[in-house]
Amino acid sequence: MSGRIEDAPPAADAQDPRRVDPELLRRYDVRGPRYTSYPPANHFAEIDPERVAEAWRARRALDPDPGLGLYVHVPFCAVRCAFCGCHTTTARPQAEVDAYVDAVQDEMALAAEVVSADRIVRQVAIGGGTPNDLGAERIERLLAGMERSFRIAGDAERSVEIDPRTATAGRIERFVAHGFRRFSLGVQDMDDAIIAPLRPGAGVAHVRRVVAVLRASGIEHINFDLIYGLPGQTPETMARGAEALVELGPTRVALYSYAHVPWLHPHQAALASRGLPTADEKLRLFLAAMDVLRAAGLVPIGMDHFAMPSDPLARAAAAGTLHRNFMGYTTQRGLDLLAFGPSGISAVGPVYSQNAKETAAYLDAVARGRLPVYRGYFLSRDDEIRRELLLDVFCNFRADLVALGRRFGIDAATYFADDLARLGPMIADGLVEADGGRVAVTARGRFFVRNVCMAFDRHLEAVAGGQIYSRTV
Ligand code: SF4
Repeated sequence: MSGRIEDAPPAADAQDPRRVDPELLRRYDVRGPRYTSYPPANHFAEIDPERVAEAWRARRALDPDPGLGLYVHVPFCAVRCAFCGCHTTTARPQAEVDAYVDAVQDEMALAAEVVSADRIVRQVAIGGGTPNDLGAERIERLLAGMERSFRIAGDAERSVEIDPRTATAGRIERFVAHGFRRFSLGVQDMDDAIIAPLRPGAGVAHVRRVVAVLRASGIEHINFDLIYGLPGQTPETMARGAEALVELGPTRVALYSYAHVPWLHPHQAALASRGLPTADEKLRLFLAAMDVLRAAGLVPIGMDHFAMPSDPLARAAAAGTLHRNFMGYTTQRGLDLLAFGPSGISAVGPVYSQNAKETAAYLDAVARGRLPVYRGYFLSRDDEIRRELLLDVFCNFRADLVALGRRFGIDAATYFADDLARLGPMIADGLVEADGGRVAVTARGRFFVRNVCMAFDRHLEAVAGGQIYSRTV
């Protein structure tokens, strides 16, 4: 086994499809977690909200100043996209949306009281669902409520997801007025013939219109989300779409793999009849878009993101300090994350807690003055050690076992002996290099980083054989 670490991003030819053996793809195309958390959310169990509040208070006493990140989940959309894997509902009555905005403000006030309103917020994200569908007046109420409850640093990063179909200048203006400078546009595909049947009303004209509105408002940081693996996509359409996006001057592009999990999202079943690509075809879709993005100067970040070299994410990736939480890739490690709204997942110290998913249950809990959490997970010490390791592998494609051992007071080579042994076949296949001091994913292995993480996942056996996860490739 070798301990060689690759510091530089992989050269383009190292990720050329001709270098990725189709047999390798087939062998490693198994089901596995996406590691937005460790352990993944399917290990959460019913939890008493009062226990969560106690843990949040204890965290405050233990460390009075870990920064805070805030996330607000807006669980409403006008219509459901065929590929959607988000927690959202459609066509809700206006009264319910109003009640939701009131409840989120109450929830924020309650949470601030528990974790301490003195803690400084360093990151704010609004996602969904479709945040801009709330309308200008509700957006204003929600953001004003947040500012009443929390101390938000002047330089805190504020970002919001925007649906180009319904993002009007008035709605965008409310976010800009509250300091939002990063807008993520859910584009998904830049070919109208592909996207319109899957996402009613979507089209490139909306994307161009919203970019013009954002530019006129002085916004420089525009992210685009694309999905690969949809019916009708070919390497040619992906390349053309990426070229059209590049012309719009993105700061970041997320190139997400379509996760086909109809047992979790039954509406996705219809996509299978339209013809879903194989793992090999999916990889070619990814590579076609990636080649265009890289040629335009965007650098690869983590598993599926690209950013301009001047972007903070690109700088963090180059420095090996990239981090990931339920909001996605981030430059800020060590923040406690509070999530608001139905289904939101908070991560405060060693505790994950998820809010009730059904709007009615969520509203009811908040009305009773309780944290609206219904399930969660208290991390053991082993979970905390592995969470640190997996974060590094997933984000930075390498982990320093010696430093990890020092931090947690363990001999990491001994502690992870079984896990390192499990990497054997992946080392033989040239996907990862490892010894008792380090784990390093190779350029070739980056497509398989989820498989590498799975070797260190102590909870995986508990769900083996079940159709829980999407495919890793
Ligand atoms: S707009 Fe986004 S959250 Fe809403 S249905 Fe479509 S993919 Fe899902």
